Amino acid sequence: MSTHEVIVVGLGGMGSATVRQLAARGVRVLGLERFTPAHDRGSSHGGSRVIRQSYFEDPAYVPLLLRAYELWEEAEKALTSYRGSVDLLTLTGGLYLGPPDSTTFAGSLAAAREWDLPHEVLDAAAVRARFPTFTPGDDEVGVYEERAGFVRPEATVAAHLDLAARDGADLRFGVQVLDITETAEGVRVRTTDGSFEAGHVVVSPGSWAPGLLADLGVPLRVERQVQYWFAPPRGVAPFVDHPVYVSELASGAQIYGFPSIDGPDGGVKVAFFRRGRDTDPDALDRVVTDDEITEMRDRVAATLPGLAGPVVKTVPCMYTTTPDEHFVIRREANVTIGCGFSGHGFKFVPVIGEILADLATTGSTAHSIALFDPRRFA
Ligand SMILES: Cc1cc2nc3c(=O)[nH]c(=O)nc-3n(C[C@H](O)[C@H](O)[C@H](O)COP(=O)(O)OP(=O)(O)OC[C@H]3O[C@@H](n4cnc5c(N)ncnc54)[C@H](O)[C@@H]3O)c2cc1C
Repeated sequence: MSTHEVIVVGLGGMGSATVRQLAARGVRVLGLERFTPAHDRGSSHGGSRVIRQSYFEDPAYVPLLLRAYELWEEAEKALTSYRGSVDLLTLTGGLYLGPPDSTTFAGSLAAAREWDLPHEVLDAAAVRARFPTFTPGDDEVGVYEERAGFVRPEATVAAHLDLAARDGADLRFGVQVLDITETAEGVRVRTTDGSFEAGHVVVSPGSWAPGLLADLGVPLRVERQVQYWFAPPRGVAPFVDHPVYVSELASGAQIYGFPSIDGPDGGVKVAFFRRGRDTDPDALDRVVTDDEITEMRDRVAATLPGLAGPVVKTVPCMYTTTPDEHFVIRREANVTIGCGFSGHGFKFVPVIGEILADLATTGSTAHSIALFDPRRFA
C-alpha cells in the first residue's frame, strides 16, 4: 500500500491551491515540483494579477469568481492567524474601456447584467473626469466595477504551500516528473528522484502540459508574455489610488494594468493581453527588445499618456492557451488534469484548487465546469 492517497504534479498557481485543499480535507497528499516554491519560470510570477467579476471572456465564469473571492478571503484569514498578517487580495475597483461593441466593454457589461453585479457605465467624458490618468476618445465607453482589484501570485502560491504543509502535505521541490502511468491500484509517477505510487494523481503542469500531457488531444500553445513596469514622467502619485483596468482600442489590441504597488521607484505595471509569440517552456527568452518596449510605450501613450515614461523593469511569463481560450479540467479514471488556463487563470486559483480536489477525492464537483471539458476539441 502506498503512503500517499493523491499526488499533485506541479506546485504553481493551481497545484499549490490543490495541495492546500487536499491537505485541509485530511487527504494524505504528496506534491512534486520541479523548481522552487513560488518561482519565476512558469506562469505565476510578476507581483500582481488582475481579479474582476464582470467577466468579458464568458459570463459562465462568474459563479466561479464569486466562490474564488470567498476562498481568497478565507486563505488570507487562515494564513494571518497561522503566520501573521498577509495581503493576497486588494480591491481597487476596475475600469474596462473600449468602443461600444468591443469585447472589453460589451462583454463586461453583458456579464454584469446577466449576474446582476454592481457596476456603472461611463461615457468618455465621465471616465476622463473621474479617472484623469485615462484619455479615452469620444467614441470609447467604460464599465466600472468596485469589486475588482489585484491578487499577489507569489504570495498566494507561498500561502497555499504553507497551509498545505501545516496540514500535513508532503511537498518536494527540485523533483521533475518524467512520466505518469496507470497501475492496477492507481498511478505510478516516475521522477528524477525515484518513483511514487498513489491512488490518484492531479496534473497541473502549467506551460509544460504539452509535453507531460501529450496524449490529451488538446492543441495547447505556449506563449511568451512580457510584463512592463513604467516610470511615469511626473511620478507615481496619480497611479497610487488607481483602479486596475483593461483597455481595448478599435484595432483590438488589449492592455491591462495596475496601480502603483511597488513604491515610488518600482514603476507601474502594464501588459498586453494575448498577442504573445510562441515559446518552448524550457527556452523562454528573457531578453525584452527595444522594439517590444517601443510598441508597448506607444500603446500605453494612447490610453494613459502620463504613464509612458522609461521602462524600469521587464519580466517575461508564459500563457498556455487553448484554441477557444477556455480552461481544460477533467478527471479520467485515476488522473485529474487542470491546464490550458489561457492567460486568465490566476484570479480563479483557489476555486480551481477546490475543483481539482473535489474531482480527485469524489470524482465530481458541485461547480459548473462543462465549459472546460477537453473533449470539446475532439
Ligand atoms: C504575464 C502574465 C500575466 C497574467 N495576468 C493574469 C491576470 O492579470 N489575471 C489572471 O487571472 N491571470 C493572469 N495570468 C494567467 C495566470 O497567471 C495563469 O493562468 C496561472 O498562473 C497558471 O497557473 P498554473 O498552475 O497552470 O501554472 P504554473 O503556475 O506555471 O504552475 C505549473 C507548475 O508545474 C511545474 N511543473 C511543470 N512540469 C513539471 C514536471 N514535469 N515535474 C514537476 N513539476 C512540473 C512548474 O515548474 C510550475 O511550477 C497571467 C499570466 C502571465 C504569464
